[in-house]
Amino acid sequence: MPEHTTHHVVRVDRNTYPQLRRAVASGQLQPTQENLDVMAQGQVYCPADTLLNAQTLVHDRELQMGNLTVTGELYRLPEGEYSSIITASLGVYRQYPGVQQLLTALLTPMTSTAETIWWQDVRMAVAQGRQLASGVDLTDERWTPTAWRRDLTRLIELGDHWFLILYFAQPPHHLGPRGRAVVGVDIGLRPLATAAWGQQHEVTWGLATPALPVGESAEVRALAQILNYAAARAALEAFTVLVLADAGTLVLEQLDYRGFKSNFSAVSRRRAVADWHQTWARQRAHARGIEVERVPAAYTSQTCSQCQGSTRGTRQGREFTCLHGHVMDAHINAARNLVRRYWGQQSHVQ
Ligand SMILES: [Zn+2]
Repeated sequence: MPEHTTHHVVRVDRNTYPQLRRAVASGQLQPTQENLDVMAQGQVYCPADTLLNAQTLVHDRELQMGNLTVTGELYRLPEGEYSSIITASLGVYRQYPGVQQLLTALLTPMTSTAETIWWQDVRMAVAQGRQLASGVDLTDERWTPTAWRRDLTRLIELGDHWFLILYFAQPPHHLGPRGRAVVGVDIGLRPLATAAWGQQHEVTWGLATPALPVGESAEVRALAQILNYAAARAALEAFTVLVLADAGTLVLEQLDYRGFKSNFSAVSRRRAVADWHQTWARQRAHARGIEVERVPAAYTSQTCSQCQGSTRGTRQGREFTCLHGHVMDAHINAARNLVRRYWGQQSHVQ
């Protein structure tokens, strides 16, 4: 990976594969031995200059690359990078009208009446159709766009799947010098993330998640999914700014998303927290010189962080109670246990 860039992996939709195979056959996509440090396996392809120089984001799920139309979840980028790709595509990029208000409405919990109105507004936006956008409206913050490094775009074929790798100049990190705290972050769905360091903690905003009414069209569902993702991303970005301001070391859980029995894996992808946990947190931390450590998460939610040793406890809703009577927010307890586990590993090493 080139210095001072971030890269992001976008899964390409299956209906794009025949075009990609034809582009390989015609030499528009050239196999290369480049080691992208993105995936351990897979064949990397470098698009011809004619493709690289002609890339624009057509809408949230479509990238035009010369004569290739690549569809996939292109909206799954952090706010800074997403702003950059849209800004570089203005004049071509199309968006449904009113999405900024629809996004803002999701940033706080909603009543069921408000949910009904929200769905009506989503349907209305879809009915009006995508229109040429004049700016970036699916991010909560106003970001200074950095360079979208079109020259570095690559494709990877791995097994039955294709992935698009997009590169961006590292967004400026206007957050001040590196802190000293060892910060543990527990991830979940409600809340998406909880950080704890010393006696302090930080939690992502409580977001609205309007339940999908029966019988919505594919277009309405697709826009709702993009909006829910954008709201979760906004909450995680705000959380990151606060947490990294104090951090010298960031301690994250080692999670194997395939190992979850529940639907956590799929939902955490839809709600941006999987992307944050797997990619963004590390990239943002490293940009500021903050170390990232991953520790095993086993039992961190069932052990008391206030007791010496490892006293078990029980959870009721968001409340954790240990056998010795300590009562705490369950997510803060888990985040503190990640910090404890980090220190345990450190003393083991020494
Ligand atoms: Zn205890």
